Amino acid sequence: MADSKPGRNPTWAVDELVPALDLYLRSGLLDDSSAEVQELSNVLNALPIHTVHPDVERFRNPNGVALKLANFAALDPNYPGVGMSRGSRADGQVWDRYHTDRDELRRVAAGLRAGASGEEPFPVLPEEGEDEISEGRLLYRRHRTRERSRALSNRKKAEARSRGQLAGEVCGFDFQVTYGELGRDFIECHHVRPLSASGPTTTRLKDLALLCSNCHRMAHRGDPWPDVEQLQSLIDAAGKHTSVPL
Ligand SMILES: [Zn+2]
Ligand SMILES: [Zn+2]
Repeated sequence: MADSKPGRNPTWAVDELVPALDLYLRSGLLDDSSAEVQELSNVLNALPIHTVHPDVERFRNPNGVALKLANFAALDPNYPGVGMSRGSRADGQVWDRYHTDRDELRRVAAGLRAGASGEEPFPVLPEEGEDEISEGRLLYRRHRTRERSRALSNRKKAEARSRGQLAGEVCGFDFQVTYGELGRDFIECHHVRPLSASGPTTTRLKDLALLCSNCHRMAHRGDPWPDVEQLQSLIDAAGKHTSVPL
Protein backbone atom coordinates (compact mmCIF):
# COMPACT_ATOMS: atom_id res chain seq x y z
CA MET A 1 0.00 0.00 0.00
CA ALA A 2 1.23 3.45 -0.83
CA ASP A 3 0.66 4.82 2.67
CA SER A 4 2.80 2.17 4.34
CA LYS A 5 5.81 3.98 2.87
CA PRO A 6 8.10 1.11 1.97
CA GLY A 7 11.65 2.05 0.98
CA ARG A 8 12.43 3.00 -2.56
CA ASN A 9 13.39 0.28 -4.94
CA PRO A 10 16.84 0.53 -6.57
CA THR A 11 17.10 2.50 -9.80
CA TRP A 12 17.11 0.52 -13.02
CA ALA A 13 20.43 -1.03 -14.01
CA VAL A 14 21.62 -1.22 -17.62
CA ASP A 15 20.85 -4.97 -17.54
CA GLU A 16 17.18 -4.11 -16.90
CA LEU A 17 16.97 -1.15 -19.26
CA VAL A 18 18.26 -3.17 -22.22
CA PRO A 19 15.36 -5.68 -22.37
CA ALA A 20 12.92 -2.83 -21.64
CA LEU A 21 14.22 -0.80 -24.59
CA ASP A 22 14.12 -3.94 -26.72
CA LEU A 23 10.44 -4.34 -25.86
CA TYR A 24 9.71 -0.65 -26.47
CA LEU A 25 11.31 -0.72 -29.92
CA ARG A 26 9.42 -3.89 -30.82
CA SER A 27 6.01 -3.00 -29.43
CA GLY A 28 5.92 0.69 -28.48
CA LEU A 29 3.90 1.83 -25.51
CA LEU A 30 1.98 -0.85 -23.63
CA ASP A 31 0.04 -0.80 -20.40
CA ASP A 32 0.33 -3.04 -17.37
CA SER A 33 -2.33 -5.44 -18.63
CA SER A 34 -0.19 -6.39 -21.63
CA ALA A 35 1.13 -9.96 -21.64
CA GLU A 36 4.50 -8.72 -22.93
CA VAL A 37 4.79 -6.27 -20.04
CA GLN A 38 3.91 -8.95 -17.52
CA GLU A 39 6.43 -11.32 -19.06
CA LEU A 40 9.19 -8.70 -18.88
CA SER A 41 8.26 -7.99 -15.27
CA ASN A 42 8.88 -11.68 -14.52
CA VAL A 43 12.20 -11.62 -16.38
CA LEU A 44 13.39 -8.56 -14.44
CA ASN A 45 12.41 -10.13 -11.15
CA ALA A 46 14.52 -13.19 -12.04
CA LEU A 47 17.73 -11.27 -12.80
CA PRO A 48 20.21 -11.55 -9.91
CA ILE A 49 21.13 -7.90 -10.00
CA HIS A 50 19.69 -6.17 -6.94
CA THR A 51 20.19 -7.95 -3.67
CA VAL A 52 17.71 -5.68 -1.85
CA HIS A 53 14.15 -4.91 -2.97
CA PRO A 54 12.77 -2.59 -0.28
CA ASP A 55 9.33 -2.49 -1.92
CA VAL A 56 8.96 -6.10 -3.00
CA GLU A 57 5.34 -5.69 -4.09
CA ARG A 58 6.19 -3.07 -6.64
CA PHE A 59 9.69 -4.13 -7.62
CA ARG A 60 9.67 -4.04 -11.47
CA ASN A 61 5.96 -4.81 -11.44
CA PRO A 62 3.97 -4.47 -14.68
CA ASN A 63 3.10 -0.87 -13.86
CA GLY A 64 6.78 -0.02 -13.36
CA VAL A 65 7.65 -1.72 -16.66
CA ALA A 66 4.91 0.22 -18.48
CA LEU A 67 6.25 3.49 -17.00
CA LYS A 68 9.73 2.62 -18.21
CA LEU A 69 8.38 2.15 -21.74
CA ALA A 70 6.90 5.63 -21.42
CA ASN A 71 10.31 6.99 -20.35
CA PHE A 72 11.72 5.60 -23.60
CA ALA A 73 8.85 7.13 -25.58
CA ALA A 74 9.89 10.50 -24.11
CA LEU A 75 13.32 9.99 -25.69
CA ASP A 76 11.93 8.80 -29.00
CA PRO A 77 11.72 11.56 -31.64
CA ASN A 78 9.40 9.30 -33.66
CA TYR A 79 6.87 9.05 -30.87
CA PRO A 80 3.91 11.24 -31.78
CA GLY A 81 2.71 11.86 -28.23
CA VAL A 82 3.86 14.60 -25.89
CA GLY A 83 4.13 14.97 -22.17
CA MET A 84 5.83 11.66 -21.39
CA SER A 85 7.98 11.97 -18.31
CA ARG A 86 11.66 11.53 -18.78
CA GLY A 87 13.48 8.89 -16.82
CA SER A 88 17.03 8.66 -15.57
CA ARG A 89 20.31 9.53 -17.23
CA ALA A 90 20.92 5.80 -17.66
CA ASP A 91 17.76 5.58 -19.81
CA GLY A 92 19.30 8.13 -22.16
CA GLN A 93 22.62 6.31 -22.27
CA VAL A 94 20.96 3.00 -23.14
CA TRP A 95 18.79 4.74 -25.72
CA ASP A 96 21.84 6.42 -27.31
CA ARG A 97 23.86 3.22 -27.32
CA TYR A 98 21.23 0.91 -28.81
CA HIS A 99 18.36 2.62 -30.60
CA THR A 100 20.18 2.57 -33.94
CA ASP A 101 21.73 -0.87 -33.35
CA ARG A 102 18.71 -3.05 -32.84
CA ASP A 103 20.42 -6.30 -33.79
CA GLU A 104 22.93 -5.85 -31.00
CA LEU A 105 20.15 -4.74 -28.65
CA ARG A 106 18.26 -7.93 -29.46
CA ARG A 107 21.35 -10.09 -28.84
CA VAL A 108 22.14 -8.47 -25.49
CA ALA A 109 18.49 -8.71 -24.43
CA ALA A 110 18.39 -12.39 -25.48
CA GLY A 111 21.55 -13.09 -23.43
CA LEU A 112 19.94 -11.49 -20.39
CA ARG A 113 16.72 -13.43 -20.88
CA ALA A 114 18.68 -16.69 -21.13
CA GLY A 115 20.21 -15.88 -17.75
CA ALA A 116 16.86 -14.99 -16.18
CA SER A 117 15.23 -18.21 -17.40
CA GLY A 118 17.97 -20.33 -15.82
CA GLU A 119 19.10 -21.61 -19.22
CA GLU A 120 22.49 -19.98 -18.56
CA PRO A 121 22.47 -18.79 -14.95
CA PHE A 122 24.45 -15.69 -14.06
CA PRO A 123 27.10 -15.53 -11.38
CA VAL A 124 25.84 -13.67 -8.33
CA LEU A 125 29.16 -12.24 -7.22
CA PRO A 126 30.13 -8.89 -8.74
CA GLU A 127 33.21 -8.34 -10.88
CA GLU A 128 35.48 -5.33 -10.54
CA GLY A 129 34.65 -2.63 -13.09
CA GLU A 130 31.29 -4.15 -14.03
CA ASP A 131 29.41 -0.86 -13.56
CA GLU A 132 31.05 0.65 -16.63
CA ILE A 133 30.14 -2.10 -19.09
CA SER A 134 27.66 -0.93 -21.72
CA GLU A 135 26.17 -4.43 -22.13
CA GLY A 136 25.44 -4.48 -18.40
CA ARG A 137 27.08 -6.22 -15.51
CA LEU A 138 25.47 -9.67 -15.73
CA LEU A 139 26.83 -10.57 -19.19
CA TYR A 140 30.22 -9.29 -18.06
CA ARG A 141 30.14 -11.55 -14.99
CA ARG A 142 29.38 -14.52 -17.21
CA HIS A 143 32.19 -13.54 -19.57
CA ARG A 144 34.75 -13.24 -16.76
CA THR A 145 33.67 -16.56 -15.26
CA ARG A 146 34.12 -18.29 -18.62
CA GLU A 147 37.56 -16.74 -18.98
CA ARG A 148 38.63 -18.38 -15.76
CA SER A 149 37.75 -21.85 -17.01
CA ARG A 150 40.92 -23.75 -16.35
CA ALA A 151 40.27 -26.52 -18.85
CA LEU A 152 40.01 -24.01 -21.65
CA SER A 153 43.03 -21.92 -20.70
CA ASN A 154 45.13 -25.06 -20.28
CA ARG A 155 44.34 -26.09 -23.85
CA LYS A 156 45.16 -22.63 -25.12
CA LYS A 157 48.43 -22.56 -23.18
CA ALA A 158 49.40 -26.01 -24.44
CA GLU A 159 48.84 -24.83 -27.99
CA ALA A 160 50.93 -21.70 -27.42
CA ARG A 161 53.74 -23.69 -25.79
CA SER A 162 53.86 -26.08 -28.72
CA ARG A 163 54.55 -23.09 -30.95
CA GLY A 164 57.25 -21.63 -28.71
CA GLN A 165 57.25 -19.70 -25.45
CA LEU A 166 54.27 -18.68 -23.35
CA ALA A 167 54.13 -14.91 -23.79
CA GLY A 168 51.47 -12.21 -23.95
CA GLU A 169 50.10 -11.87 -27.48
CA VAL A 170 49.98 -8.08 -27.33
CA CYS A 171 53.22 -7.06 -25.67
CA GLY A 172 55.24 -10.28 -25.60
CA PHE A 173 55.61 -10.23 -21.82
CA ASP A 174 56.82 -13.58 -20.48
CA PHE A 175 56.23 -14.02 -16.74
CA GLN A 176 58.94 -16.65 -16.40
CA VAL A 177 61.56 -14.40 -17.96
CA THR A 178 60.82 -11.67 -15.40
CA TYR A 179 59.83 -13.69 -12.32
CA GLY A 180 61.78 -16.90 -12.84
CA GLU A 181 60.28 -20.13 -11.53
CA LEU A 182 57.42 -18.24 -9.85
CA GLY A 183 56.20 -17.03 -13.24
CA ARG A 184 56.38 -20.40 -14.96
CA ASP A 185 53.15 -21.22 -16.83
CA PHE A 186 51.46 -17.96 -15.78
CA ILE A 187 49.47 -16.03 -18.38
CA GLU A 188 45.87 -14.80 -18.49
CA CYS A 189 43.25 -16.00 -20.91
CA HIS A 190 40.92 -13.50 -22.60
CA HIS A 191 37.75 -14.28 -24.58
CA VAL A 192 37.68 -12.12 -27.67
CA ARG A 193 34.02 -12.77 -28.53
CA PRO A 194 31.61 -9.96 -27.64
CA LEU A 195 29.53 -10.21 -24.47
CA SER A 196 26.38 -10.51 -26.54
CA ALA A 197 27.61 -13.69 -28.25
CA SER A 198 24.72 -15.96 -27.50
CA GLY A 199 24.28 -19.41 -26.10
CA PRO A 200 26.56 -21.71 -24.18
CA THR A 201 28.64 -22.09 -27.31
CA THR A 202 31.67 -24.28 -27.41
CA THR A 203 34.52 -21.82 -27.18
CA ARG A 204 37.12 -22.31 -29.86
CA LEU A 205 40.79 -21.77 -29.13
CA LYS A 206 40.87 -19.02 -31.70
CA ASP A 207 38.32 -17.11 -29.61
CA LEU A 208 40.91 -16.89 -26.84
CA ALA A 209 43.94 -14.63 -26.52
CA LEU A 210 46.75 -15.08 -24.01
CA LEU A 211 47.54 -11.75 -22.39
CA CYS A 212 49.70 -10.41 -19.59
CA SER A 213 47.70 -8.99 -16.68
CA ASN A 214 48.18 -5.36 -17.78
CA CYS A 215 47.10 -5.99 -21.36
CA HIS A 216 44.14 -8.01 -20.07
CA ARG A 217 42.93 -5.08 -17.95
CA MET A 218 43.25 -2.77 -20.94
CA ALA A 219 41.38 -5.29 -23.12
CA HIS A 220 38.31 -4.74 -20.88
CA ARG A 221 38.44 -0.94 -20.99
CA GLY A 222 36.75 1.35 -23.48
CA ASP A 223 33.56 0.80 -25.42
CA PRO A 224 33.87 -1.20 -27.56
CA TRP A 225 36.76 -3.16 -26.10
CA PRO A 226 39.98 -2.98 -28.12
CA ASP A 227 41.07 -6.18 -29.83
CA VAL A 228 44.59 -7.61 -29.83
CA GLU A 229 45.66 -5.70 -32.96
CA GLN A 230 44.28 -2.44 -31.60
CA LEU A 231 46.13 -2.90 -28.31
CA GLN A 232 49.31 -3.62 -30.24
CA SER A 233 48.89 -0.38 -32.22
CA LEU A 234 48.25 1.56 -29.01
CA ILE A 235 51.49 0.27 -27.53
CA ASP A 236 53.37 1.05 -30.73
CA ALA A 237 51.90 4.56 -30.88
CA ALA A 238 52.61 5.27 -27.21
CA GLY A 239 56.16 3.96 -27.60
CA LYS A 240 56.85 6.66 -30.15
CA HIS A 241 55.81 9.45 -27.81
CA THR A 242 57.02 8.48 -24.38
CA SER A 243 60.48 8.13 -23.04
CA VAL A 244 60.97 5.90 -20.05
CA PRO A 245 63.82 7.09 -17.82
CA LEU A 246 66.32 4.34 -17.15
ZN1 LIG B 1 39.21 -10.85 -20.82
ZN1 LIG C 1 50.95 -7.28 -22.07
